[in-house]
This record gives sequence, C-alpha cells and structure tokens, in this order.
Amino acid sequence: PVAETPKPAAPAPAPAPAACVFCKIVAGTAPSRKVYEDKYVLAFWDIRPRAKVHLLVIPKQHVASLKELDELPVETRAALLSACVKVARDQGILDEGFRVISNAGKDASQSVFHLHFHVVGGEKLREDAI
Ligand code: C5P
Repeated sequence: PVAETPKPAAPAPAPAPAACVFCKIVAGTAPSRKVYEDKYVLAFWDIRPRAKVHLLVIPKQHVASLKELDELPVETRAALLSACVKVARDQGILDEGFRVISNAGKDASQSVFHLHFHVVGGEKLREDAI
C-alpha cells in the first residue's frame, strides 16, 4: 500500500475577543432576533434598523473585518454571501432590490469589529448612499 502523505494541519483560528458582542450573539449569551443560522454563519436583525429590512450576516468564527477575510475557511466565505441572498429572499426583498454592505475599518466607520454584512431593503434606498 502507498503511504499517505499527512495533510498539513489547518491553522488554528485566532481566539475571539471575550468582549465581542457578535461572538456573544453566536454563543447565545447576548440576545438577537435571529432569522437564519447554519454551521458557518448567523443572520439577525440589526438592533437599530435603518431601513424596513436591515439584517446582519456574520461568520460564527471571529474575524475583525473584511480585511481578514482570508483567515476564514473557504466554506465560510461562500456561506456568508449565500446567506445574504437567502435572507433577502426570505424577507421578500429579492425582486424589488436590496443592498449588501460591509464597513471595514476607520474610513468606513466600522463600529463592531466582527465581520458583518448589512443586508438592507424593503423600501427605496438612497441613490447617493453606497
Ligand atoms: O458597520 P458597522 O460596524 O458600523 O455596523 C454595526 C452594526 O451593528 C450597527 O448597525 C449596529 O446597529 C449593529 N449592532 C447590533 N447589535 C448589537 C450591536 C450593534 O445589531 N448588539
């Protein structure tokens, strides 16, 4: 029999900061209005909705922002985008249009440093907002 070459071990994910509010939501120790969950991601209502539909889609594994996207397994990266479309469909906003935004870093005024995608819609969104 041909000896199998051992696979290199995947790098261990960085430990999540204990104070991260989205990690607490993932752990169930902080409340949220969940709309979708799978092995990789969680989606819930933004606590301060700025449109009729305003959801957040986050990876269960902690990374600070889109800048650290490459630290996530490819399955999680795919699940994030798929979940954005899925929750938009489930909220009935797929046909009229919706927006997916991720604020990353200082110039984007990111306020929670756990990667998240805002999924907004359910009304006519401002043309001059990106
Ligand atoms: O993109 P940014 O980091 O500014 O967005 C963070 C979002 O997380 C805000 O829209 C805020 O209302 C939301 N939030 C939340 N639940 C919390 C803390 C923040 O939905 N417990």
